[in-house]
Amino acid sequence: MAGIDLDNVTKRFKGTAALDGVSLTVPEGETLALFGPSGSGKTVLLRVIAGVVQPDAGRVRLGGRDVTEEPPEDRGVGMAFQNFALFPHMSAFDNIAAPLTARRDAPSVLKAGVERVAKLLKIDHVLGQAPRQLSNGQKQRTALARAMAGQPKVLLLDDPLRNVDAKLRFEMRLELPRLLAREGVTAIYVTQDYREAMALGKRIAVLFEGRIAQIATPDEIYHAPATLAIAKLFGDPAINVLDVTPERDAHGPFARLSDRRAPLDPGLAHAVGRACVLGVRPEAIRFVDAEAPGAVPVTVEAETPLNEKTVTLAVTRRGRELLISRPAGAPGPATGPAHVAVDSVHALLFDRETGARIAPEPPGGAIRGAAA
Ligand code: ADP
Ligand code: MG
Repeated sequence: MAGIDLDNVTKRFKGTAALDGVSLTVPEGETLALFGPSGSGKTVLLRVIAGVVQPDAGRVRLGGRDVTEEPPEDRGVGMAFQNFALFPHMSAFDNIAAPLTARRDAPSVLKAGVERVAKLLKIDHVLGQAPRQLSNGQKQRTALARAMAGQPKVLLLDDPLRNVDAKLRFEMRLELPRLLAREGVTAIYVTQDYREAMALGKRIAVLFEGRIAQIATPDEIYHAPATLAIAKLFGDPAINVLDVTPERDAHGPFARLSDRRAPLDPGLAHAVGRACVLGVRPEAIRFVDAEAPGAVPVTVEAETPLNEKTVTLAVTRRGRELLISRPAGAPGPATGPAHVAVDSVHALLFDRETGARIAPEPPGGAIRGAAA
């Protein structure tokens, strides 16, 4: 097994950087989820690691060994893609066996190798069939089995669940992390689905326009996203964003929501006077009585079910739209005037100009003391 190390990798196509100084490390045996919008460079990054694309600058190390100049076949990397890419004229068995055939494994070794991964992926009963006889789910498992058959040190999975139905995707989301852990393989798992990224990666690397915007655990990305753009991508419905300029009174920093003072984390006193964006998750807003402290009047426009939640669209008196989410079945107004309480103390604050998150300072921080 081997860890993956990328050091300042840059790749340009016709002068445009598809990868721009990407550095990351995946420790041996860990799965990193690589998440980013379409065109952000995810596939190019995998291809650089596999050796099918040569970077313009930077180094690729696998298991501590610099493989930047090495051909793909010497790198011990297995790859699977979203479009399955099976050989149509070959049986599932022969498709899975392809990497073992290529390195001339003895027939008995080859058979044992194919049967091992086929069992692991629960397709041992369809090994004799041609791809066109397989269901989409079986095709996808066959492609995964092929990527894993050679017991690669490094496994690169390029959005492998993109083209399978929701039920199978859900099953595989549960199954794959255990499978990868059991194999002890170091893996990069590309996805454009934030839930999948959170389910599959011990850590998630977020890629924007060829640059790593953040690498962190799913929990950190959700609760402390590095930028507003990341905050918007992780969460469904998306985070509410409100332009605010924090002020302070005797109780500490606050933001104005309608005519109410919404208290902010005391550690955000250093953001007073700065043009900011307040990010409030839909589940951090709840309906309350008009007399409740801090109740903000809104008009409920519509509601819609979303999985196990009910999502409501409400508009404040100043015309700002809010998405509010509550567990399905929990009572709430479907339409008309109502009041909401916003958990502003736990809201995220971003710089309006740069989009960077403004982190609360720990209590008794030096800067707060100096500003007082
Ligand atoms: P994604 O994150 O969707 O996988 P890609 O890695 O495929 O994105 O592509 C990143 C950028 O690099 C895109 O702008 C794409 O057009 C460009 N690109 C990728 N491969 C090539 C190529 N072989 N020639 C020219 N441009 C490419
Ligand atoms: Mg891609």
